[in-house]
Amino acid sequence: SFVVGILALQGAFVEHQTALQKLPIQKKIDVILVRTAEELAKCEALVIPGGESTTIALLARLSGLLEPLREFVKIKPVWGTCAGAILLAKAVVGAKKGGQELLGGMSITIARNGWGSQVESFETDLDVVGLRDPERPFTGIFIRAPVVLTLEPSPGDLPIDVVASLSPSLLPDSLTSSNSTNEPKTFVALRQGHHFLTTFHPELTRDNRFHEYFIRECVLPSISPPRS
Ligand code: GLN
Repeated sequence: SFVVGILALQGAFVEHQTALQKLPIQKKIDVILVRTAEELAKCEALVIPGGESTTIALLARLSGLLEPLREFVKIKPVWGTCAGAILLAKAVVGAKKGGQELLGGMSITIARNGWGSQVESFETDLDVVGLRDPERPFTGIFIRAPVVLTLEPSPGDLPIDVVASLSPSLLPDSLTSSNSTNEPKTFVALRQGHHFLTTFHPELTRDNRFHEYFIRECVLPSISPPRS
């Protein structure tokens, strides 16, 4: 068995725990809630839930977890959903006054609350790639969600794969700058090496294919590297 942690400082962590515990995979996953550096040290991988990214970062700092989290992101698989996706980004726009601490890990710039104040939340079917059963659409639940603005891998960085995107016609007018159909702004699930982000909330559906994807594609290869 192996240990997957869920950062449990604030936000929707219980739902992730339930989804991970139900996965149909061979190896047993021990899912633990992480609130201290000692708990983090037990984990092979980490999920950072949705919630409020500034609050999560503040609580992480207060509990002495911020630097251990940054070190963790450098070496182990991490999946951020919504607020967690913001924390995994290299750069953010639209942060509150006083700033937003980030963990980094993914070579993207993300806009906090990128749908604007008109659109608090919405649900839509996503086009998915690489999930089990890719023909079956996935219902993306977006709640004050961030928007990925640019993908900017530096030379030497691992490539970024698009795992889910949404129709450009759904973007708010303020975010449609061109008629390109291949805009980062429509990318809502991205993977870079063993890091993964979703700007929506898969844990709020009964469909656990994104949880399965993270474990299969990001976590298992990193704990049992292929023999050469
Ligand atoms: N708007 C939140 C933030 O900026 C994210 C919302 C969410 O996680 N559902 O942190």
